[in-house]
Parts: sequence; structure tokens; C-alpha cells
Amino acid sequence: MRFRFISGHVALDLAGTVGHRHAEDRYDLLTDPEALARWALEAGLVDTAPPAEARDLAATVALREAIYRLVMASIQREPADPGDVELVNAAAENAPVAVTLRGPGELVRTGDLRAVRATVARAAIELLGGPARGQLKRCGASPCSRLYLDASRRGSRRWCDMRECGNRAKAAAYRRRHATA
Ligand SMILES: [Zn+2]
Repeated sequence: MRFRFISGHVALDLAGTVGHRHAEDRYDLLTDPEALARWALEAGLVDTAPPAEARDLAATVALREAIYRLVMASIQREPADPGDVELVNAAAENAPVAVTLRGPGELVRTGDLRAVRATVARAAIELLGGPARGQLKRCGASPCSRLYLDASRRGSRRWCDMRECGNRAKAAAYRRRHATA
């Protein structure tokens, strides 16, 4: 399965590397350190795949799960787990990915996976601590569990992705209506 970047925010896309979180067919796309390096590259966080070790994977998965729980707590208006807050703050203390201008139109992003985590953690802090928090949503199509930012003017978006989840939810609603009719 390929990585998808449809959540409208890098921290939410990281959380989205686990799919169908609460279903039996839950899957995790960060299967090994190389997959993590590829994710960082495809997310546009760095321009060359950084070296990846098992401990990078473990640290990134821990950050990912903390972000997921913090976002869910925010959506459900529940108190955040202090351990999750601490973990995200600690990850954000490190130096983020460096951006260098080589000339007009030539921006280079360099950093290791620790820097990648710092960049994601900083973005997560801006998200959870700022006004965009009000746009956080979880996809309404079962079994999808994807988090996304609803930037629609009326805040009426219900699915992470119209083509897949939106159509699936509409088809399921149609079947339900006709099964009871
Ligand atoms: Zn979805």
C-alpha cells in the first residue's frame, strides 16, 4: 500500500500511516525503518531519504501515537494525556529539518529522522495549540479512522477523501435505506 497525503497536515498524515485503527484489518504502513525514511521523503520533509535505524522507527511510532491520541482528545473535548503532551514537546525540542536557499526556486531541505520528528512535532504543537484545532476531524466512513483538517468554509466535510471514503459511505447508506424499505 502506498503512503497517502490527504489529511491537510503533516502530523495528521503521519497518524494516517495506520489505517482502520479500530477494525480487525488494522494496518501499519511504517513496517520498517526504510519505510519511515521513504515516508519522510514522500511527505516532502526532506529532499533525500535520511538514514533510518530501528530506534528511529520506534521513536517515530511513539510520536505518531501520541499525536493521534492528542488529536482525538481535542476532537472529543477530553483532557490530554500529560505523557503524550510531554512526548510531543520533547520531540519538538530538537533542531528541525534545515531549509537552505541555493537560489531563486532552489530550496533544499536536509535533516536526519530526529530532525524530521522535530519538524512534525512542532507542526503538531502549532496545530493543537492554535486556531486550526477547530478544524480537526476524524473520517466518518467506517472502518476508516483517518484524521484530517476540514478547511471547507462551512466546516461540513465528513470524510477524509471524497472518492474513496465519501463514495463508500454513500453506498453503505444507500444499501441501508433499501434493506429496510
Ligand atoms: Zn476516510
